[in-house]
Amino acid sequence: LLPLGAFIAAFIIGLVVWLSRRRLSPLGELQIAVRKREFIVHYQPIVELRTGICIGAEALVRWKRPDGSLVRPDHFIPLAEESGLITAITDQVIALVVSDLNSLLVADRSLHIAINLSATDVGTERVLPVIAKALQHTGIQPRQIWLEATERGFVDIEAARSTLARARELGYAVAIDDFGTGYSSLSYLEGLPLDALKIDKSFIDTISTNSATSSVTPHIIDMAKTLKLKIVAEGVETRAQADYLKERDVDYGQGWLFAGPMPAAEFIAYCRRAKVP
Ligand code: C2E
Ligand code: CA
Ligand code: CA
Ligand code: CA
Repeated sequence: LLPLGAFIAAFIIGLVVWLSRRRLSPLGELQIAVRKREFIVHYQPIVELRTGICIGAEALVRWKRPDGSLVRPDHFIPLAEESGLITAITDQVIALVVSDLNSLLVADRSLHIAINLSATDVGTERVLPVIAKALQHTGIQPRQIWLEATERGFVDIEAARSTLARARELGYAVAIDDFGTGYSSLSYLEGLPLDALKIDKSFIDTISTNSATSSVTPHIIDMAKTLKLKIVAEGVETRAQADYLKERDVDYGQGWLFAGPMPAAEFIAYCRRAKVP
């Protein structure tokens, strides 16, 4: 009897240890994060290159784990997209942008906030009433909201086109993200209802003082100009890059040279400071 009791006790202890150490799968963890709304948004200023004035920010999501650590989007957005959790995350980001920045956006109508949409979001018009509802009872104007979509992800081009067209009818501005990294040809882009292009960081990276600038980058800029769209250069890290872009009449810049992504309170303080002419 004694050996059997010892065996059962050992089994129970083993089971308890196993249960306590058992890790949830990454998807299980992300599902809980969505349910518990464990996301926050950081804001990275976008500046007008000609004047250096802050004209708004891009909303960049972070997963704030219960231990306080922040997980970068590259570590969970792909899984969120694969699993369909992305639509719930997009909705949370929209709600956060409104609650974080309502007062700022009402106090300064010239500011805009760019929100990232994934291919799933652009595939249907589902997100548009979500934004409209979030803006209801706030003083934020639709034109203060920029929607960023990457063409790489467009699964159904016609569906994407109709969502973006509807978004513009509702007054939101639409930008193509990571411009230059997809398959966009001029004729393809001409057919899309757009306000702005964000030139991908990989093209900005090639701009340097020692004239090693890739031959592609000026063409990317020219292409955006031909389409008569506003241009945002992303990942601007050096003064030389900013000068190059300014010389070529690129409208806006975003990058560590100006400021990195920061919590809402810091961004509000940054805007107040940066706005004084
Ligand atoms: P993205 O849309 O291309 O966003 C720009 C990324 O470049 C951000 O990384 C930003 O922190 C980083 N960055 C900005 N300036 C510089 C710079 O000067 N140098 C360098 N090296 N990096 C710079 P982050 O915040 O880690 O976001 C990564 C990607 O995750 C974003 O790329 C976007 O595709 C995605 N993402 C972020 N937030 C959301 C969201 O709310 N929804 C969706 N669907 N995707 C999001
Ligand atoms: Ca973006
Ligand atoms: Ca981008
Ligand atoms: Ca990029």
